[in-house]
Amino acid sequence: MLLIFFSFAFEQNLEHSSCTYCGQCVAVCPTGALTEVDHTPDVLRALADPAKTVIVQTAPAVRAALGEEFGMEPGTLVTGKMVTALRALGFDYVFDTDFAADLTIMEEGTELLDRLNRHLKGDKTAKLPILTSCCPGWVNFFEYYYPDLKDIPSTAKSPQQMFGAIAKTYFADIIKVDRKDMVVISIMPCLAKKI
Ligand code: SF4
Repeated sequence: MLLIFFSFAFEQNLEHSSCTYCGQCVAVCPTGALTEVDHTPDVLRALADPAKTVIVQTAPAVRAALGEEFGMEPGTLVTGKMVTALRALGFDYVFDTDFAADLTIMEEGTELLDRLNRHLKGDKTAKLPILTSCCPGWVNFFEYYYPDLKDIPSTAKSPQQMFGAIAKTYFADIIKVDRKDMVVISIMPCLAKKI
């Protein structure tokens, strides 16, 4: 007899539950019963495909956390080693998500100034304050629990998403690669980024 000790609220299944895909349950599950969907086989397939141009972006936290997995002091920066390893794995281009974070800041700053100016001119549609988060789990939480405030968060994409958009358009044109032959991989410190 199989005893179930938990289910989603109101006996709903996952996609109808109030799950915000934050990934915390997977992060803290002591037995590994809950685990993330592993996309490594997809990445290895793309790297092995000569017709594909495979690009990787790495979040800043990764280069400060990776070293610990190899017995280094916590916080040891392994940027050079990480980039070398990624190139050795077969990635055609290695980028740091940092520059896309600058793009996000520019977009959010522009949006804030626009809302401020319109607000000062009495435009009721110019909502303040402006809230922002690069966390999809947070965005989901906001949309599920405060749908009436959906026009408060910034409309700017997260750095990860900004990078993907720029890579598949502007950069694809620069290196003359058809975007359908380009695979963009993100190495991020948080499961929620998969959503
Ligand atoms: S992903 Fe987050 S919101 Fe969803 S069930 Fe797990 S802990 Fe709860």
